[in-house]
Amino acid sequence: MSEQRKILVTSALPYANGPIHLGHLVEYIQTDIWVRFQKMRGHECHYVCADDTHGTPIMLRAEKEGITPEELIARVHGEHYRDFRGFHVEFDNYDTTHSEETRHYAETIYQRLKERGLIESRAIEQYYDPVKEMFLPDRFIKGECPKCHAQDQYGDSCEACGTTYTPTDLINPYSAVSGAAPVRKESVHYFFKLSDPVCQQFLREWTTGQRTEHPPLQPEAANKMQEWLGSESDNRLSDWDISRDAPYFGFEIPDAPGKYFYVWLDAPIGYMGSFQNLCDNKLTDLTAGDRLIFNDYWSKDSKTELYHFIGKDILYFHALFWPAMLEHSDFRTPTKVFAHGFLTVNGEKMSKSRGTFITADSYLKQGLNPEWLRYYYACKLNGTMEDIDLNLEDFVARVNSDLVGKYVNIAARTANFITKQFDGRLSSFDLNEQERSELDVYNKHVKQDEIDWEANSLEDDYRILPRRLEGGGDKGAIYNPSNMVARFIWARKRIELLYEARDFSKAIRAIQELCDLANQYVATMEPWKLAKQEGQSEKLHEVCTVSLNLFRLLTLYLKPVIPRLAKQAEDFLNIPSLQWSDAEKILSRHSINPYQHLMTRIEPRQIQALVEANKPTLQATEQPEPHSEQRHAEHQQHAIQPIADTIGIEEFGKIDLRIARIVKAEQVEKADKLLKLTLDIGEEQPRTVFAGIKSAYEPAQLEGKLTVMVANLAPRKMKFGLSEGMVLAASDERGGPFVLFPDQGAMPGMRIK
Ligand SMILES: [Zn+2]
Repeated sequence: MSEQRKILVTSALPYANGPIHLGHLVEYIQTDIWVRFQKMRGHECHYVCADDTHGTPIMLRAEKEGITPEELIARVHGEHYRDFRGFHVEFDNYDTTHSEETRHYAETIYQRLKERGLIESRAIEQYYDPVKEMFLPDRFIKGECPKCHAQDQYGDSCEACGTTYTPTDLINPYSAVSGAAPVRKESVHYFFKLSDPVCQQFLREWTTGQRTEHPPLQPEAANKMQEWLGSESDNRLSDWDISRDAPYFGFEIPDAPGKYFYVWLDAPIGYMGSFQNLCDNKLTDLTAGDRLIFNDYWSKDSKTELYHFIGKDILYFHALFWPAMLEHSDFRTPTKVFAHGFLTVNGEKMSKSRGTFITADSYLKQGLNPEWLRYYYACKLNGTMEDIDLNLEDFVARVNSDLVGKYVNIAARTANFITKQFDGRLSSFDLNEQERSELDVYNKHVKQDEIDWEANSLEDDYRILPRRLEGGGDKGAIYNPSNMVARFIWARKRIELLYEARDFSKAIRAIQELCDLANQYVATMEPWKLAKQEGQSEKLHEVCTVSLNLFRLLTLYLKPVIPRLAKQAEDFLNIPSLQWSDAEKILSRHSINPYQHLMTRIEPRQIQALVEANKPTLQATEQPEPHSEQRHAEHQQHAIQPIADTIGIEEFGKIDLRIARIVKAEQVEKADKLLKLTLDIGEEQPRTVFAGIKSAYEPAQLEGKLTVMVANLAPRKMKFGLSEGMVLAASDERGGPFVLFPDQGAMPGMRIK
């Protein structure tokens, strides 16, 4: 192995107001696989994370639940930690940003920025809730859309028509907290002067890799940053507002009573806080009693490596604000920021109504194996910012055919012969002279070889390695067990480079090629036939011994992805915990334990049950947190909307509500929200209605069903045609739209009174 590296790794901090779902898990599983891989190689690698606990949504949610914010974040911390453990995500420390360590570094960074003249205060005008006596973020102001007149739209954009605007544009704006009309009010805020030429110049150099040995950003991320930064003559960064007024749940700014650090200032500092907390509790070398030292990893001249795994939506914070904060407060900047894309399910955004907004907890509660998901994500992740798709059919097929059908199968088909006919003992086996000496040459070569950091130059790395590691296909190897095992050992370097570059999908493909070869070997040798033939005992012993050696190597390569299954395989093989350097340790005259089934197949009905369990119920649960940079401002508190003014029965009677049969439901080309419905209410001609329910319903789900329509609404001319009425549906920030369906027996045309 090359020199031991010292590596600190983080995943983005989940916000402490909602459950972990399969979208979040892409990042934690990606990071965990990488960290496990580094640890298996013998590097010193620390993986820290924490709950992100500050801000207005936390404060309001706690208030609504009648508990303190501290109680809320303690409970959510427990839930998050449980979910991560359930998926075998193994942090070295899982902390909270509401800690003295994080406060310390937030204050330190703030003071140093201030000493450099990079903090400025000035008065700004903002929306204020006069009843609740608090300033309101845009997302906490609601009102009527100025464009399409949809009710209850957020202060920054309309969900019905997609228009973006400022809260001043809303008709009849109201505070989502108290319902009161917001007023404008002035207040002093503190700003980090990112517009300062010193900051801009630093960021322009840092993001393009001129300040560091290796480029810190993926190429597509670096390009994005150039857009945001502009050029030297066109500086686009403006100052960053880092303060919020009381009441606020967070850290008070030391020299500014009543002012608090904005949650996005202290969130990334939580990485430092969590690491400090780890240092205070951990020895790096138990025998030597060495302490883990904070400054080894964070001082300006640190030679260690620091990696942040994040979603692409928070690049802005991690690739601009964060390095600028660190640089100008005399800390080191990240070695690399690894951004990943979002998760889609069956090719679409995760959706509550389709049941694809799947929580980590529900997945585990339905009895699904977490390693199925870890394996599937590994098949999909490639180290870029592309979105990845969880196709549920493909998920079942891939896990069943690759993991169970190919990998596990090698052990399942050969182990029992060893146990029953050879007293649990493998035969004598080793590589032949030629393979041994070639392997020595190869190892020397690998030792001299430096890992290239750029994924796109991996092909070059393959070229300088012996051609033999290309594996697969060549039937000749099957009749030469020594050559076959040697191939599996040679493949290590290739797989290692792919893991290092986070190109897990290619690593898995390389491992699957080896799996295919091992299965070809078993299928060709037919041990079950050898077992029945006279005088073939020795051959049978060899075939099973070779097969289990191949199985051991496959286990080694898959271990970062499926640690639990690998542990079971190690127990079965009766070997110590596999390390990356163990590839050449061939099992010869070695006793194994009796084989017990390692993994079951996924039943498609388990997936159906999972989707059903995640569909909204009448008591719709809390809206899960959106994975977006607005997540902190997201309106989480559910205040019931004010009941409208009282009306008399005669006024209600003016609305003619009818039972309608949905004769036809169709997609509307170029419409994001609408479905075209053909409704029969017993009239001569059916009516056409455009309904904004596309996000929640497939046309086929609706056809033939009865629903409720407003039959005397004045027809409205829309971009896509004339809408001759309206169907009724319920919604608020907890979900929807939910279309109304009448009880059985209702007939088209019946009046609803
Ligand atoms: Zn609108």
